[in-house]
Amino acid sequence: MLNMVIFGPPGAGKGTQSEKLIERYGFVHISTGDLFRWHTKNDTPLGKRVKEIMNSGALVPDDITIAMLKEELDKNPLAKGFLFDGFPRTVAQAEALDHFMQSRGTAIHRVVALDVTEDEVRTRIAKRKAIENRADDEEEKLNKRITEYFSKTLHVLPFYKTDGRLTNIQGIGSIDSIFESICAVVGTT
Ligand code: AMP
Repeated sequence: MLNMVIFGPPGAGKGTQSEKLIERYGFVHISTGDLFRWHTKNDTPLGKRVKEIMNSGALVPDDITIAMLKEELDKNPLAKGFLFDGFPRTVAQAEALDHFMQSRGTAIHRVVALDVTEDEVRTRIAKRKAIENRADDEEEKLNKRITEYFSKTLHVLPFYKTDGRLTNIQGIGSIDSIFESICAVVGTT
């Protein structure tokens, strides 16, 4: 079994593809966004610390995020394969992740980036908005998350490209055809 990371901007279909990957391969799914949402919903001390940052759509500082991820890894000592979703979002997080995997005697083997341009994402979201009628603050938050992806998270990809772990996959097309392209990458271990 291998460990992998999936990248993609909001609206790229990362959530849908992650669900399908978990179903097919039985990955332990670690989504830092879901973990932070759990903490804010349950009003834990960590949730209280990150609530405002999350509400603005900005990134949570690395020290907080990395500590939470480590705790989550420690809860799964026997996991055979992880799918990381929403983590890493900075080079410091990517380095920490390699370090944690190494200390478990394993590695991040595959990194998949769903390629969708900023223009395409904004067009998709504008179409969605016409149907869903989102509140303005939701809209603002979403815009900020898109900006964070293209201004920060995208810069993590060269970290994985230099050592050949990264595969870019065209994020435009049917759900199933994109899924099969990802599986072709997972299956080449
Ligand atoms: P997501 O559902 O992955 O888009 O995450 C929702 C929010 O959680 C983000 O907008 C950030 O505020 C926070 N978050 C999730 N993952 C990370 C991360 N790896 N680094 C920093 N902040 C994160």
